[in-house]
Formats: sequence, structure tokens, C-alpha cells
Amino acid sequence: MKALVLLSGGQDSTTCLYWALREYGKENVSAFGFDYGQRHIEELKYAQAICDELGISFVIQSLPTVSEMTENALTRSDIQVDNSYDGSAPPNTLVEGRNLIFLTYAAIYAKKRGIKVLVTGVSQADYSGYPDCRDVFIKSTNVTLSLGLDYPFLIETPLMWRDKAQVWALARELGVLDIIKEKTLTCYNGVPGEGCGDCPACNLRSWGYEGFVRDEQRI
Ligand code: ZN
Repeated sequence: MKALVLLSGGQDSTTCLYWALREYGKENVSAFGFDYGQRHIEELKYAQAICDELGISFVIQSLPTVSEMTENALTRSDIQVDNSYDGSAPPNTLVEGRNLIFLTYAAIYAKKRGIKVLVTGVSQADYSGYPDCRDVFIKSTNVTLSLGLDYPFLIETPLMWRDKAQVWALARELGVLDIIKEKTLTCYNGVPGEGCGDCPACNLRSWGYEGFVRDEQRI
């Protein structure tokens, strides 16, 4: 069975890529990414480098309309990333509809190539207030895409119930902890590896890593 990984070059989707290699075999895995005007566009270079090293296909779809239509700190350089997220409302890095748009484009691309499995790194456990990272959204979208394209898709979400510490643990289990640590870009300000240390994505990543290290020491 062939699988298409939605790859951004960050910690979560890159971990999913290695998960897919284990589950579906390298010959069956390819990757798909998006240029949607994100301020951390550099992330795609990291995704490309990982795919080049693995020898798997990585296609980047351009979606310029996303940044034209939405107002958020991820696609607008004049809006500051708000660090004060407290769970009461979505953070200003939310790109409305992003995962719905991404999955729709990925599904169209996949069907053309006889690929039924779509792998995405969304997580409800650490969903940061993004409604389109929740399990119910994915299940609903799975049904909608299968009906809309008349094709039996399976959306795989290996991180859905893992918090960031458990995502690091999965990377270790897959034998790629150092690759994820050093060769991915999660930071909203475009700083690779450990990142800028100041944005919400860096905070979540380092908070998760500290939790992972603590869990390791307990075992
Ligand atoms: Zn950062």
C-alpha cells in the first residue's frame, strides 16, 4: 500500500515520515509539502534535504491564496507571533482551514498516483487551539474526501494522542532522535534545530523535549 506524508520539515511531520517508512516501506512512501506564504518557509528546505537523503520523492505545492485570504502571524510578517496563548481562544498563528486545504490538495494528488493513505502529523493531545488538528475533524475529513473523490482514502495520524514528549519518544523508538533534533525546523522564526527559543513552537518543542528526558530518566 502506498502512502503520502504531508511533510513540512518540522518535528511532527518529519517524525511521521519515518513512522511511515517503518509502516509502509520506503518504496511505498512519498512526501508532499506546501508553500503557503509561511514566515518559516525555510522549513521546506529541511524537508527537501531529509527526502533527498532518504531518496524519496518530495513535491511542493504552491498555495499563494492561503496567505491572501487569512490573517495570522504565520503568513503575515506585519503581525507579531503572540506568545500569550492561554487556551481561551485560538492563538494568532492559527491559519484558518489550513489542514482542510492541505488534505484536500494532498488527496487530489494522491488519487492521481494510486495512493490511498495520507499521513499527517496533527495531534489533539498538543493541539494548541487549532481546531483542524482534532481527531473528529480528521475522521470527518476522511469521510468527506473519500466521498468527494469517490476513492477509499485512509488518513493516518500517528501523533494524534501523543503529547510533544511522546513524539520525541517515538523518534527515539524509530531510531531517528538525532535527525529530528538537528535536521528539522519547527520554529516560527525560521531558526533550525533548537530554534529561537522564544516563539510558541520553540517553547512547545523544548518543553516536550524536557518532558521526554525526564520520562527517560524515570525508566
Ligand atoms: Zn522559535
